[in-house]
Amino acid sequence: MDLAPGPAPLLVLSTPLAALTGVGPRRVAELARVGIRTVDDLLLRFPLRYEDRSRLAPLAQLEAGHTATVAGTIASCGLRPTRRPGFTIFEAVIRDQSGQARALWFNQRFLRDVFRRGQHVVLYGKVESTPWGTQLTNPQYEILAEAGEIEARDGEPTRSAHHGRIVPIYERIGALTSRIQRDLVHQALDRLAEPIDDPLPDRVAEGMALPARGDALRQTHFPGDGTDLETLNRFRTPAQVRLIFEEFFLFQLGLAVRRRERQGEAKPHVIQVDARVREAARAMLPFALTAGQRAALAEIVEDLQRPEPMHRLLQGDVGAGKTVVAALAAVVAMENDLQVAFMVPTELLAEQHARTLTRLLEPTRFPVLLVTGSLTAAERRSRRTAVASGEAALVVGTHALLEEPVTFRRLGFVVIDEQHRFGVLQRARLREKGTLPDVLVMTATPIPRTLALTVYGDLDVSMMRDRPPGRQRVKTTVRPEARRDAVHAFVRQELERGRQAYIVYPLVEESEKIDVRAATAMADTLQQDVFPEYRVGLVHGRLPADQKRDVMTAFINGDVDVLVSTTVVEVGVDVPNATVMVVEHAERFGLSQLHQLRGRVGRGAAASHCILLYQSPLSDEARARLKGIAASDDGFVIAEKDLELRGPGDVVGTRQSGLPTLRVGDLVRDRDLLLRAQATARAWAGTLADLPAARRFVDEAWQRRFGLVGIG
Ligand code: ADP
Ligand code: MG
Repeated sequence: MDLAPGPAPLLVLSTPLAALTGVGPRRVAELARVGIRTVDDLLLRFPLRYEDRSRLAPLAQLEAGHTATVAGTIASCGLRPTRRPGFTIFEAVIRDQSGQARALWFNQRFLRDVFRRGQHVVLYGKVESTPWGTQLTNPQYEILAEAGEIEARDGEPTRSAHHGRIVPIYERIGALTSRIQRDLVHQALDRLAEPIDDPLPDRVAEGMALPARGDALRQTHFPGDGTDLETLNRFRTPAQVRLIFEEFFLFQLGLAVRRRERQGEAKPHVIQVDARVREAARAMLPFALTAGQRAALAEIVEDLQRPEPMHRLLQGDVGAGKTVVAALAAVVAMENDLQVAFMVPTELLAEQHARTLTRLLEPTRFPVLLVTGSLTAAERRSRRTAVASGEAALVVGTHALLEEPVTFRRLGFVVIDEQHRFGVLQRARLREKGTLPDVLVMTATPIPRTLALTVYGDLDVSMMRDRPPGRQRVKTTVRPEARRDAVHAFVRQELERGRQAYIVYPLVEESEKIDVRAATAMADTLQQDVFPEYRVGLVHGRLPADQKRDVMTAFINGDVDVLVSTTVVEVGVDVPNATVMVVEHAERFGLSQLHQLRGRVGRGAAASHCILLYQSPLSDEARARLKGIAASDDGFVIAEKDLELRGPGDVVGTRQSGLPTLRVGDLVRDRDLLLRAQATARAWAGTLADLPAARRFVDEAWQRRFGLVGIG
């Protein structure tokens, strides 16, 4: 029987990787662990970087101080004896036609079993000059051909997937080295059936001079001769741009389609703004609005009057006065006989907001009702009744309002305040609960534009860039822990003037229990040894709600002078008499968190201070963060910097953040492409009939592809 293999069958993008020669159950499992299951997954994973192996530096011409790719044959190799016990050096001498160079690896004893004399290898690393000659230290390596193969092929190896060209370098996946992956990608591209389904409108691809999808995949993994290495490593060749843009476009298209569908919906209620409503709003205003507040309010009220529900994000810095704007909009809704729900992330904030809103709405006829989990069963029952009857005009609560069996008589407007974790799909659920209410989302601190476009990409955005008048810049200083005594002396001075202070103590240990103990000990020391004649209060996450409330109320009323707190959220409060914010372990906070903490002071007329204490040694990144916070007090600038330093996951918080899984796009590196993709997607969302591949994707694969399932 003739078992000679025929040509390998063609692959499509959805083919499972087991179809590749060389991929058995073990590799299938290894790849699946990092989410790579199909040809598509494999090809839409960018190399880490590229190496130009078509023009290798001759070994004799290596220049110290540069990073170089070199190739040669191993002339000798082995472990070198060292005097330090437990310390090993593996040395290889490699040779090419021009000369030779050494490579050293420290503490990589296993290399004994990797390298052999006569192998043809490629090394990539930093070139150093030593008294013993030029050397590469701990270079990355790849074995191109085993000893013997090279002689058989007459010296110089020929061009293949691995040499004689620009080659992709992939991040290792378990036992799958970069070289093994390169073989797999090469094989997959070789067997890929054309044409490939292309979701990008031709006109867009042409307009941006982007190659077709198949070409883009090929050129991304195996760039043609003459492709600029620097452009490749910046991920800006037309092929790479095409794949990044396509990913952003598809994500944005899903958002844009949802947005359009909503625009076709009609609210069951009508909101009108007449002279009476205007007068009611004016009557409650305790001060003149800033230009930013006025503009934002106008946009919101305009939305309220439209037939389709509002979905708007209000971006403003800490202290910019978002609450007032939301409250004014709420009055408009309530004057139209609608109920308003105000949702915040914690009970403490719910209580604070209930107080603020009660005060703001005092001149109006609308009662404010707080609904939280810490109410007694009887209280909860009676409040639910008030909500159901419509007697409660404005209901403040945590996100539990969504889960609770709370029924509104006529819920027309929902405000979601100070949160980052309310994804696209959760918002969809909210709409199912109310009968298509208008929704206003407010961020605690500004979030970077690119993140806003991704996490809140289905929303319209209002920005308030100014601040209420008379606000002073908070003076920010960064001090090592060793200066804590001096800092406390400064806090004392402020207390003597009748001011109040926050001291924030972050979660430091793995265990919350230990943290609480540390914070409690700290509060005790502050009370007994440092500020014995003042009143020190403590709030932390484990405190029962009623105790928390008592401490906070005492601080707000001025009955507590120094508030020690463990978390950021717990201090999301407004106490104008507080003029000092001390942050312990400031190096552990992100920029936006620090900015938010700082925003707790400087709310009154008095000069305010933010003092950041750090523990040495500081990492470079932490140093950059502390420098950044001291240098700027513009939340919008800080948000961008935070994203750059920490990456999107940390800025938004990864769990349930609504942050999509991106395969090739990078929210920091590719922000320009994201902006463009959103505009393009919104322009095309109405004509999807012309884009069958994109339509199918949005309908069937969008949620799963971007990891948005599971939310809501
Ligand atoms: P945030 O945007 O951080 O939620 P708030 O709504 O809590 O800000 O407002 C911060 C403080 O500024 C509050 O005490 C509020 O009463 C005050 N405030 C808001 N707008 C104005 C304004 N236009 N003029 C004066 N004070 C204002
Ligand atoms: Mg606020």
